[in-house]
Amino acid sequence: MELWYTEKQTEVYGITAKIKETLYTTQTPFQHLAVIDTEQFGRMLVLDGMVQTTIKDEFVYHEMISHVALNTHPNPKRVAVIGGGDGGAIREVLKHPSVEKATLVEIDGEVIRAAKQYLPEIAGMLDDSRVEVLVADGIKHIEESANTYDVIIVDSTEPVGAAIGLFSEGFYANIHRALTKDGILVAQTESPYFNQDIIKKCNVGIRKSFPITRLYLASIPTYPSGLWSFTLGSKTMDPLAVDEREIATLPTKYYTAAIHKAVFHLPQFVADIISE
Ligand code: SAM
Repeated sequence: MELWYTEKQTEVYGITAKIKETLYTTQTPFQHLAVIDTEQFGRMLVLDGMVQTTIKDEFVYHEMISHVALNTHPNPKRVAVIGGGDGGAIREVLKHPSVEKATLVEIDGEVIRAAKQYLPEIAGMLDDSRVEVLVADGIKHIEESANTYDVIIVDSTEPVGAAIGLFSEGFYANIHRALTKDGILVAQTESPYFNQDIIKKCNVGIRKSFPITRLYLASIPTYPSGLWSFTLGSKTMDPLAVDEREIATLPTKYYTAAIHKAVFHLPQFVADIISE
């Protein structure tokens, strides 16, 4: 018998993957969690029926949500990842020798536990001595932090349930307060094909707090539409002003010094989303 997983990415469109094995399913206090092994993308973490990460293409998202900001900041020592319980962003953050402490603030401890057990390639650095893991609401944590982090990465689920506030103007203002002098925020801001309203809202919200706000893109096959956006807000440093020759080579599969700048060249329809 063949088993297939379908994610309805919109009311009328989805992606389907042939399942090798269902490894784990549970209902946590926050969401339905599943880890399935698929023929095409290997093991996949699925929350409330939406793909969060897969073994085969996770490198794109995790490298791109981390290195652009970390290589724009002159000396990132303290970094927070809000959400991101799979541990992929933390793994990338720790590739930067300047980082002394990386704080993960994930609301759902079950995501961390399942990732450690079923996705060790992604979660493997969560036990590193530089990592602090807080099972807590990222919104509250940021509210209670001032002048603390050099870079804050918002690695959230789609804006539903506990994640709604992670896409709000007030949250970005609190992030500005939680950041140090040259602080940088970066957030995943969904698909330019399917979520133009979210991209626009995030862009407007981040622009209200950060003088330098930039959108960039990456190609991620298992995310809705395959094209993904990230929005970076910065107090002083412009990612486009970074000297490519000064970007240290890291062990990465997608991010390069040339990619650091290239991803800010937007197709016209994407530039139009944030043009007003
Ligand atoms: N890469 C992913 C994507 O774009 O699909 C996101 C991955 S990560 C698994 C997202 C995490 O954000 C989830 O584990 C979820 O529990 C967490 N999350 C949602 N709302 C949160 C909040 N208010 N505070 C902290 N973590 C939150």
